[in-house]
Amino acid sequence: CGIVGYVGPQNALDVVLEGLRRLEYRGYDSAGVAVLADGGQATAKKAGKLANLEKALADSPLPESTIGIGHTRWATHGGPTDRNAHPHLSADGKVAVIHNGIIENFAALRAECETAGVEFASETDTEVTAHLLAATYDATPEGPGRLAEAMRAVSRRLEGAFTLVASHADEPDTLVASRRNSPLVVGVGDGDGEYFLGSDVAAFIAHTREARELGQDQVVEIDRNRGLTVTDFGGTVVEPTAYTVNWDA
Ligand code: GLU
Repeated sequence: CGIVGYVGPQNALDVVLEGLRRLEYRGYDSAGVAVLADGGQATAKKAGKLANLEKALADSPLPESTIGIGHTRWATHGGPTDRNAHPHLSADGKVAVIHNGIIENFAALRAECETAGVEFASETDTEVTAHLLAATYDATPEGPGRLAEAMRAVSRRLEGAFTLVASHADEPDTLVASRRNSPLVVGVGDGDGEYFLGSDVAAFIAHTREARELGQDQVVEIDRNRGLTVTDFGGTVVEPTAYTVNWDA
């Protein structure tokens, strides 16, 4: 329902939680975050209001990080429980994914993963994308843009409506996101390799008004060092629509 991502110099958890608060008006039944720290994913997720998540984070804080993602969920597949809240992790714990929308062909993809020996941790349609991304990443040649390439390959296999945002423990300076029939906006900070992702501009309006809107069936990579790259699902680079947000937060 609500999506936030952050790469930059600031404390990612603060930026992500603030973005989620600004998206609360959309309604939701659970919330969660994941940050990259110490070579792995650190996550917290809770059913109920953001205050529940904030209490869980106060009781057991996540390590400091400058890259992270956050989600407020409106359940469509699987009840509103802690387990079904996003982010969802791959079985090896390396990939974290948040998702708005519905993966219509999730049952077939889930069966394929289960045949390959993957055990699922939730009842969501979303979780399959975390496992597929991890496996596809492993099968993608090393080099810059590897996670984006894996995201494109996974996106081509998905049916339905989705905004997906993902991170990988082996790419600690990168977030990737994909969209089909569901909104995704990038915010560009002023320098320092700072970028925001949001399901709408409210997610980052407190930090920047410089936005880039993605088109249908596009993937964006935001990388602390390499900057912003948008492609279609085939990998052809496209120029995103740039605009300045001119309403008051
Ligand atoms: N279909 C997903 C789920 O039920 C995402 C729902 C949403 O858009 O928040 O977990």
